[in-house]
Amino acid sequence: MSDIRNNWTKEEVLEIFNKPLLELVFEAASVHRKYHNPREVQVSSLISIKTGGCSEDCGYCPQSAKYHTDVKVHKLMEVEEVLGQAKNAQAGGASRMCLGAAWREVRDNSDFDRVLEMVRGINEMNMEVCCTLGMVTEEQARRLADAGLYAYNHNVDTSEEHYGDIISTRTYKDRLDTHQHVRKAGVTLCSGGIIGLGETEQDRIGMILTLANQEKHPESVPINALVPVAGTPLENQERVSIWEMVRMIATARIVMPKSVVRLSAGRLEMSKEGQALCFMAGAGSVFAGDKLLTTPNPAQNEDRELFKILGLTPTEPFMKGEKPEVKMSYKESTKKKELVEKVQAWKEEMAAAKK
Ligand code: SF4
Repeated sequence: MSDIRNNWTKEEVLEIFNKPLLELVFEAASVHRKYHNPREVQVSSLISIKTGGCSEDCGYCPQSAKYHTDVKVHKLMEVEEVLGQAKNAQAGGASRMCLGAAWREVRDNSDFDRVLEMVRGINEMNMEVCCTLGMVTEEQARRLADAGLYAYNHNVDTSEEHYGDIISTRTYKDRLDTHQHVRKAGVTLCSGGIIGLGETEQDRIGMILTLANQEKHPESVPINALVPVAGTPLENQERVSIWEMVRMIATARIVMPKSVVRLSAGRLEMSKEGQALCFMAGAGSVFAGDKLLTTPNPAQNEDRELFKILGLTPTEPFMKGEKPEVKMSYKESTKKKELVEKVQAWKEEMAAAKK
């Protein structure tokens, strides 16, 4: 019988989740070795292309306009600036570029056209492109797919039962509807959640069940530890322990064997040994760069050192799926000739550096 299932029961997941920790890690490591190369870690770089001023009220997020935090509102970045950052991330070993905009949903306007140009440009640099732009319609997801989008991130955050305590401006169903739109457009799905939001163990299981019982598991499952930010409703939440992260990662690994489980926010608080245990438990991806949207993250040189100690190497792009074909060429769509030439020159530079 295939061990890829989407009919997990709460009891089964609870039993896995509550195994003695070392037994759980061993089982997760065995599953990881069956479906993934344990010596490789996929590295993503996440940038905030439009920061703050969001109309949603996610209780953990400093970018909500409803809270008073230190986050500076920043309008949508220029295409050239984003491509420049992608180039640096690629040179640092990142195979995926994630673009995050603090929007409730995508609107069909010139800002969206600009994001499509960013997607095309990064795809042409031979990087996987992921966007997290809030809710999308099926048509918008298709336009992103046509621009060469590889993945769309839309986290479920927590269980359906706990969701209303964290966010009141949209429903759990809204989240799942966007998942459907992304799937229909043929884009891979990145969806996970955050622990440390005041949820119970049942909520953690509920979140994993939502993902593991989807018709197709998300190709990428980020597991975040809350980084409490002053000014948000969750500013005084206690930080989760490394053991809780390991348990979440290992359980996600076992019930969604083919998905890439991403050790996401909260790494700065973790020791090297703690992160090593997360990799052992099946984490196959991290975010690189000293910032995750607006919260701090380990610097690139620290990650390089950690990878060296553990004998890990960053994966090449498109190891788990085909490079999306760009249906509307970036070259055709942009009016900025210099930008096209620059992207071409970067591609040649990167190809030469690899020889
Ligand atoms: S998490 Fe996203 S949708 Fe929620 S407030 Fe922050 S930017 Fe807005």
